[in-house]
Amino acid sequence: MKNRIQIIRADITTLSIDAIVNAANRTLLGGGGVDGAIHRAAGFELLDECRTLNGCNTGEAKITKGYNLPSKYVIHTVGPVWYGGNKNEPKLLADCYRNSLNIANLYNLRTIAFPAISTGVYGYPLIDAAKIAYIETFSFLKQNSNPKTVIFVCFSENAVSVYQNVLDEILNNI
Ligand code: ADP
Repeated sequence: MKNRIQIIRADITTLSIDAIVNAANRTLLGGGGVDGAIHRAAGFELLDECRTLNGCNTGEAKITKGYNLPSKYVIHTVGPVWYGGNKNEPKLLADCYRNSLNIANLYNLRTIAFPAISTGVYGYPLIDAAKIAYIETFSFLKQNSNPKTVIFVCFSENAVSVYQNVLDEILNNI
């Protein structure tokens, strides 16, 4: 299982893979953070396609083409805003990972990259978010042969070490 997971430090818009995941908002019409970076790099055609999707509920996911991105597809998912942990945030964040992986599987995509959904402006604590990302991903990969590889993209060195530590802890407890 461990060989199907990678942790890298990168700008997700630079990856030449099957799909990158966008931490979008419910309008799917662009925003700040990773969402803004993806729309800037993909170009106006991405926004045009997003306009046809009628938004997306929190925890759900929708796919578009990647346009000017090196990635073939973008899977847009809407993470929960962190209100302290008692507003269904963990379940909704888990839904984001599972629903994105499910779309990747339906499209026979081999490699998909996730940013740390909800951990920027939406305020989800990084350690807790990383745990959910791994638990959902492991459970999906156990049952499905596609995607073959899941990349966790960290935007800072600190995020890389958090992701690495959380992974070690989970693997030690399996
Ligand atoms: P959210 O609203 O879901 O919190 P943000 O875009 O504010 O989304 O942040 C989500 C995560 O994406 C944060 O950890 C942030 O550091 C990271 N991030 C921001 N820009 C990029 C990028 N270009 N590539 C990869 N990760 C990014």
